Amino acid sequence: DYWPNRGHMDVQGLTVKYTEAGRAVLSDISFSVEGGHSVGLLGRTGSGKSTLLSALLRLASTDGDISIDGVSWSSVSLHSWRKAFGVVPQKVFILTGTFRMNLDPYSRHSDEELWRVAEEVGLKSVIEQFPDKLDFQLEDGGYVLSNGHKQLLCLARSILSKARILLLDEPSAYLDPITLQVLRKTLKQSFSDCTVILSEHRVEPLLECQSFLMIEGSSIKTYDSIQKL
Ligand code: ATP
Ligand code: MG
Repeated sequence: DYWPNRGHMDVQGLTVKYTEAGRAVLSDISFSVEGGHSVGLLGRTGSGKSTLLSALLRLASTDGDISIDGVSWSSVSLHSWRKAFGVVPQKVFILTGTFRMNLDPYSRHSDEELWRVAEEVGLKSVIEQFPDKLDFQLEDGGYVLSNGHKQLLCLARSILSKARILLLDEPSAYLDPITLQVLRKTLKQSFSDCTVILSEHRVEPLLECQSFLMIEGSSIKTYDSIQKL
């Protein structure tokens, strides 16, 4: 029950391909992330940032080993592995179901808590606009919501699930400057002890990261300051 505790990640010799015969998008990469640190993930368009985040979630076919707090992904179930993570994808697909179900898939939280978290991420006024509020049914990937709002919904879900490791894939692409401030505040408030991997093209959202990963030509480099990039 107490795993993961610190959220320390070790990635060893990770190779990721989309097809058996295809080229490796990431080839034999290794790096570590300190538990509780925020790491900026950089690289050109198509370099493999989203691919790396999918691989961490075991959504892509991979060789190599990843462990969290010393526990290898080969020794825990897929379900337990994924439960360690909160994810805000680049393009969000919302499951058909109510706001409530999307925020709290296992019905673990009171309405009061759902509203508190919705407010924290700036979604309260959005949900209030819909008839039935939390019971409003989202259909067809949640097309009634903007992509930015869908990302905030994922963020709220990650707060509620008390994820130890948060993966954020280019949140700034769809969020306006005010919403980005909300995201920043949330990272400080609700994810201050968590390990955060933040994929970004822009420098500004990365300023609070303690280290950086740069993907270039299917390999990865680690930097401890943004000036060195
Ligand atoms: P961006 O900054 O545009 O989001 P990225 O760094 O996230 O780019 P990825 O989406 O990880 O890049 O893509 C890396 C490479 O993997 C690209 O060459 C892309 O064409 C390929 N790729 C991504 N998804 C798939 C897929 N589902 N099937 C096959 N190839 C894919
Ligand atoms: Mg991407």
